[in-house]
Amino acid sequence: MEIIKVRNLVKNFGELEVLRGIDLDVAEGEKLVIIGPSGSGKSTLLRCLNILEEPTEGSIEFAGIKITDPQADLPKIREEIGMVFQSFNLFPHKNVVENITMAPLIVKKMDRPEALEIARSLLEKVGLSDKAESFPAELSGGQQQRVAIARALAMQPRVMLFDEPTSALDPEMVGEVLEVMGDLARDGMTMVVVTHEMKFAQEIGDRVIFMDEGLIVEEGKPRQIFTEPRSSRTRSFLTRVM
Ligand code: ADP
Ligand code: MG
Repeated sequence: MEIIKVRNLVKNFGELEVLRGIDLDVAEGEKLVIIGPSGSGKSTLLRCLNILEEPTEGSIEFAGIKITDPQADLPKIREEIGMVFQSFNLFPHKNVVENITMAPLIVKKMDRPEALEIARSLLEKVGLSDKAESFPAELSGGQQQRVAIARALAMQPRVMLFDEPTSALDPEMVGEVLEVMGDLARDGMTMVVVTHEMKFAQEIGDRVIFMDEGLIVEEGKPRQIFTEPRSSRTRSFLTRVM
């Protein structure tokens, strides 16, 4: 069962052709990893998946709904697609619990005790039960990113998109964030992850796609892509990053 179906996705910024015809399906429960050089369109692709960027051409279906239709209920769809960015983007003047409960309270109109209960259990899941009252500035980068993941999960999304979630972290904090993402993968979450963490990609990825210059150049099982890439472009990228 496909939860995301992308057909001939094209995205231009003015004259710049950033996505040049992407076809991509993501199955329910699948862990898809996207790799590729800087500027190849990975972030733009993720942002198109919840229409944070409006596609220039092509269509995207989410859970059977054509979200590229002008009539699509985008706020409703975005509730079902969680996103975690490279920069943690927490609300600086709100504490951890407030960061996590805000969208459920306001967007989902959840009642406060339920939102607090969800926040409590998510903080436990990401190993930050003792930081509920802390403010973002009082947390390390790794802790902030784990809060950002908990905040996205609080909306109970059907899919989680991760855009290089560990790239802005000091090396010693990468592991704790990947561990939380690994747990989520094992829980069965559908995940689309842009990352250069190749070991992680091999551990959790069902499939890897390699993008270059706005196109999917190659896709396959992690082991195949990493150990015997077919394309010379994939090979030369991997020798640079691995
Ligand atoms: P990646 O995530 O693979 O590094 P991006 O999707 O961020 O690539 O960017 C692909 C290209 O699109 C880059 O050349 C970038 O400068 C350009 N780009 C991205 N966002 C915008 C924007 N909002 N306006 C203009 N150009 C953009
Ligand atoms: Mg990017």
